[in-house]
Amino acid sequence: MAEIEQTAARVRALWGVSRGPVPNVVELLEAHGVAVIRLPLDSADVDAFSLPFADHPVVVLGTDKNDRARSRFDATHELAHLVMHGEQIWGVKEVETQAHQFAAAFLMPADDIHDQLPTTVDWSTLFELKRFWQVSLAALLMRARTLGRISDSTYLTAIKAASARGWRRVEPVPLGRPEQPARLLDYLASPESSPARAVLPPQIIESIGTASAA
Ligand SMILES: [Zn+2]
Repeated sequence: MAEIEQTAARVRALWGVSRGPVPNVVELLEAHGVAVIRLPLDSADVDAFSLPFADHPVVVLGTDKNDRARSRFDATHELAHLVMHGEQIWGVKEVETQAHQFAAAFLMPADDIHDQLPTTVDWSTLFELKRFWQVSLAALLMRARTLGRISDSTYLTAIKAASARGWRRVEPVPLGRPEQPARLLDYLASPESSPARAVLPPQIIESIGTASAA
């Protein structure tokens, strides 16, 4: 756990991310050679996945949920797999837990967020933090529990209250449109520079047209 927090901090430092919220996760990935693609993944049983090619790894994000906070978390979860896990081991429970821990630490560094997190179920503060950190209320509550700001029972109370209001399905305080990849069109315009075209399975290439229109 502490090791994962450190790994997330190392990647932030390496990539020159200053303190506080990550302004744009997709842009950050693209700036560091990760090809990011948004596709409808409704037929697949996943929200996102990644392909750990050494030269240009690829992160594929689903377009289905249309939720900026969740999309940022998904993208960071996939970054965790690329950084820590590599080859195809998706679905192994421990690996998924680690990727979630990394994403939480990367998007909400303990040193920066600890004192801001409420010690009770204070929704107005949580709404503010959601806007500021660009993460879901669910992720904030989980982070508050992980960092010991709230107890397990306070956490459960919050989750139950959120469920009762339908917030587990659609959260309040929408953050707008998910972050969009900006460099994919460059890759399509000059295929020789396109890691995606070179490495993705044909059916994914085919649906890129659909995704960019969505
Ligand atoms: Zn995963």
